[in-house]
Parts: sequence; C-alpha cells; structure tokens
Amino acid sequence: MTMLSDKDRIFTNIYGRFDSGLKGAMRRGSYSTTKDILAQGQDWVIEQVKASGLRGRGGAGFPTGLKWSFMPKEVGVRPHYLVVNADESEPGTCKDRDIMRHEPHQLIEGCLIASFAMRAHACYIYVRGEFIREREALQAAIDEAYDAGFLGKNNKFGWDFDLYVHHGAGAYICGEETALLESLEGKKGMPRLKPPFPANTGLYGCPTTVNNVESIAVVPEILRRGADWFAGLGKKNNTGTKLFCVSGHVNRPCNVEEEMGVPLRELIDRHCGGVRGGWDNLLAVIPGGSSVPCLPASACDDLTMDFDTLRDLKTGLGTAAVIVMDKSTDIVRAIARISYFYKHESCGQCTPCREGTGWMWRVLERMARGQAEKREIDMLFDVTKQVEGHTICALGDAAAWPVQGLIKNFRYEIERRIDDYTARSTQAPVAAVAAE
Ligand code: SF4
Repeated sequence: MTMLSDKDRIFTNIYGRFDSGLKGAMRRGSYSTTKDILAQGQDWVIEQVKASGLRGRGGAGFPTGLKWSFMPKEVGVRPHYLVVNADESEPGTCKDRDIMRHEPHQLIEGCLIASFAMRAHACYIYVRGEFIREREALQAAIDEAYDAGFLGKNNKFGWDFDLYVHHGAGAYICGEETALLESLEGKKGMPRLKPPFPANTGLYGCPTTVNNVESIAVVPEILRRGADWFAGLGKKNNTGTKLFCVSGHVNRPCNVEEEMGVPLRELIDRHCGGVRGGWDNLLAVIPGGSSVPCLPASACDDLTMDFDTLRDLKTGLGTAAVIVMDKSTDIVRAIARISYFYKHESCGQCTPCREGTGWMWRVLERMARGQAEKREIDMLFDVTKQVEGHTICALGDAAAWPVQGLIKNFRYEIERRIDDYTARSTQAPVAAVAAE
C-alpha cells in the first residue's frame, strides 16, 4: 500500500507546525465552503457523510451518517443536541488532544455542520478533566469564531448555533456516552441503561447524538472534497484517513494520519523509526487502545490496521492507539496493570463489573508473581466470560478483553511463572538446610 500523500491529509496542522488560530485555519480552507454546504440542506449533508463511509473514530466504528439519521427529522418541543465526546481517556490514545491543540477550527466547523444536519442549535464539547491546555486552546478558538461572526445567533452561515465547552472532572467512565450525558447534566457520571437511546432520549431527555472529536473534525473536509474522495481512501467498508497514536517500544512514538488499512509494519517503520531493537525484538502489540486484546508478534507480519481485519483477529481497531511492547516487557504485569486501571475506573453500579474487575486484577497480580495454580488460568478465563456482555456499559468488556488476549496468546508465560515459583518454593527448604 502506498503511503498517504500530504495532499490527502486532513489534519495538516496536527504537528503544530503552523498557526492553529483562525487566520491559519482559514488559509488551510476552514469555513471557506460552510455556507455552500449548509445551502445543500440537511438530507444532503447526511447522505454525503453516509456515502463517504465514515465510521465513528471513538472506538466502536459505527457508521456516522447512519447514526445522524436516527435523529428525528422534525423538531418538536424538545430541542436537539450534538454532544462531542472529547473525554479522551483510553490508555494509549492522544489524537483528540492534538486536534483540540492544533486544529480546533476543524472541530468547530464540524460541530456547526453536524449540528445543522441534525437540526441542533446547540452543541456541547465535553473535554477530559486533565486537558487544561486543550480546553483553553479550544475555548480561545471558539471565542475567535464568535468574534468573526461564525457562531452564535444570526451568524454568517445562517444557522443559529451556540457552542459550549464543558470541562469534565477526570473520570474515565464519563467517556461512555450516557455517563457523559449524566455528567453534563450535573449528575454523577454513571452509564444509563439502553434503550432508550440518546437519539430519542439524550441530554435533558432530548434527542441527542454523541460523536467523537475526530469523527466530527473530518466532516468539513469530507464535504469540501466530496464523499467520493474520502471513500476512495482506505479499504472497502473501512474508508478514509485515520489518526494513529503509536506509543511504547518504538524509536519515535508519534501521532500520525494515515489511510485506513495501512499495514502495521509500514506505519511503524515509516513514521516511528521501527521497533526498538528491530522487529525480531517485538513481543506484542495492542492495536487499538488498552481495552482490546493484545496480539503476539507472529500475528503482526501482514497485519493491516482497519476495523474489519482486527475484528476478524478477535481484537479491534478501537481508538487506533497502537501500543508496542518489545521483549523487555513483562507482559503479565503489563496486563495486570491494565486490569487495575479498569477496576479503578469501574463506576460500580453493576455486579459483574464491580466485582469481576477486582477479581481479575487480583488473580493477575498473583499470576505475575507465579503464585497461582495452573487450573486458575481457565478459571480466570471463565471470569472474563462472566463479565463480558453482562454489564450495563462496555467497560466490563474493556476489562475482560485484555485478560482474554493475555491468556490466549501468552498462556505459556503465565505457566512458566507458576512453574518457576513452584520450583523455587520446593527448593527453598533444601537451600536452607544446605546453608546451615
Ligand atoms: Fe459501571 Fe462497570 Fe457497569 Fe459500566 S459496566 S455501568 S462502569 S459497573
């Protein structure tokens, strides 16, 4: 696959090389066609987004245009809302952070167009609590857009529209869309049971769509260049460009925009200077943020980075946060640490997640030390299956999948530790006698 050319990049300012202010954004094309786009009408915008094949960039990969079409066409007594999920907290993921820092006007213009398409006159951007500078950069850009007459009532584009930034308080679970809505309403951030779905009963009980930052920020460019252009990039059913966040044991960790379906090896060699110590030194890769199962090095040779390929491998593209681990990694301890994260972030309202995340973490901690029995490996796998799919929100799955990946791909490593520990335990008295 050829690499994405500069002319096909959407986030040309992502590395902070140019001016992220309004003038710089307008030089790069922002707001130049907004009025023309809105003049085509709501249905046209939604059809174009559908035709582009854009799938949600927050992790689930649901078709964005289809999601928008679930919003009621008529606005009754209940106002419509767009809510942008900027609560980027998935370990390994830092792409929305860069959009807010360096390309805030792409997001702002996207909010305006998407809100128009869904007949919303207000949009809330829910920013992760730890993102202080990002919130400041975003708010400064919004202020610029208001001053330029691009936002607010009677703005230059003819769609009354207000845009608000809401600063979260640092809870991972508020990245779950219904917990986010609860938090936005001033309540404790706990996921809601679905149905009802937000498109019918969302923010303040009104029709609401929640979209990821990247999903919204790419929309103006898709509509400027045409749905066919976006659909022509990437692979069938996995179209367009994508921001990848590559971290861990590579020579140059980075965020980079590439075509969907880029081979993992090319992504890492071209943009990150390769795996530390070379590809022979690779142990495992988590391809889509900490909540998807890791893959062993042997699965990475011909791996392409897209939703469908990774789903077929029983993992996922998730947020496209690629975490690379070389052979110096203690893989059992690494997954135990991820388990602790989910235990810590569980909101605690459903039993399989509240109790199961703690069980998984504690058992993994023992396994990392080798203080377990081999039969417990299958018992642990059973626990993950009792959590997966049996909870109110996807955090339960997110906690279960990394453990499943560890057991499927690195069972031998857990067994080796148990053997080592058992051998040490049985030898200890002999050693003690010898010492006497
Ligand atoms: Fe809360 Fe976990 Fe249940 Fe989600 S799965 S609602 S985080 S307890």
